[in-house]
Amino acid sequence: MKFALIIPDGCADEPQPKLGGLTPLQAAHVPHMDAIAAAGIVGQADHVPASMPSGSDVGTMSLFGYDPIKYHTGRAPLEAAAQGIELGADDWAIRCNLVTVEEERMRSFTAGQIPNGLGASLIQAMQAACCGDEHWKFHAGVSYRNLLLYRARDGKAPFADDTYTVPPHDITDQLIAEHLPMGSGSCDLRALMDKSRAIFADHPENQARAAAGQLAATQIWLWGQGRRPALQPFAEKFGPRGAVITAVDLLRGIGRLIGWDVLEVAGATGYLDTDYKAKGQRAIEAISGDLDFIVVHVEATDEASHEGEAEEKVKALEQIDQHIVGPLHAHLKTLGDYRILVCPDHPTFLRTKTHSHGYVPFTICGKDITPDNLPTYDEPTAAKGNIRFDAGCDLMGHFVRNG
Ligand SMILES: [Zn+2]
Repeated sequence: MKFALIIPDGCADEPQPKLGGLTPLQAAHVPHMDAIAAAGIVGQADHVPASMPSGSDVGTMSLFGYDPIKYHTGRAPLEAAAQGIELGADDWAIRCNLVTVEEERMRSFTAGQIPNGLGASLIQAMQAACCGDEHWKFHAGVSYRNLLLYRARDGKAPFADDTYTVPPHDITDQLIAEHLPMGSGSCDLRALMDKSRAIFADHPENQARAAAGQLAATQIWLWGQGRRPALQPFAEKFGPRGAVITAVDLLRGIGRLIGWDVLEVAGATGYLDTDYKAKGQRAIEAISGDLDFIVVHVEATDEASHEGEAEEKVKALEQIDQHIVGPLHAHLKTLGDYRILVCPDHPTFLRTKTHSHGYVPFTICGKDITPDNLPTYDEPTAAKGNIRFDAGCDLMGHFVRNG
């Protein structure tokens, strides 16, 4: 049997005054998603536990069938996995932003979208300054997004579950003194952050950037720490052998950690101009081979919400429907037994321009799925459905096993 999951990231939303009181899913012309609903079931799932922040990393882990409360250890280990960095059982990964702090306030959590070359050079300077300590290993990433690893060669690390850090994007314009790392190992993190201030102030290229009137990186900001999550391979846990198509690093990381192939698609950008058609075609190619399970993730719906653009969100949904859901579903029908699932990871509200907690609608059709006579895929219809997963991670088992 073949399986497909399409994730329109953050597509679930509230009724919009701008859309005549409809949700984006209701307002969008999505005949292929509605066809799945009409042929199968529509229900609700909650992928983000109330105790956790609503992010694609948490929501997607749940959507893939893994309880985030049990398995989510932090954002940095997922990013490390996305970059192919292996972590030992006692190693820690820590997110290392390049930031601009002015008058002790967080001015920019991206150091003004610092260019890759300068970012890499600053990270290299930090590594050189730490060369006496074999535990610390800095990894340059893209722009302000870098990683710091703690290699626990002796099986011991200074960090623990009580190690507390704050994402720099949550404290824009606030005094940083109130948000410095706390708990186990925080002295080490604070010391590195302090050290970076002097190193960055002395860096000629960084000085030139400041002199040119742009935001220079004034220091590193460490957060999102965690150990490698102990995720059982998907094929072992659920059966099918899977692969994922996504432009988002955190999802690449989760995919790798559960033993999936991560398929790259030229033109997949993670933004509104992403090449929907290329993603749809790549999915069809992949599922035609010996793969059992293809996942296609599209970020554009989430991006439109962050920008508060209701019409863009509707347009993104229509593109996903036309270029991915439609062709992929039609192709699955030619391959024999199949099931197809459409479900986002979390709601992203246009009203607040940010991720939210709460139920998202899903729809499934295919082999042995008895239709429930709900004709469309949207939030109000899903609320009328007979099936609801309060722990969203149970949806995957239902999709691949029970039907
Ligand atoms: Zn998301």
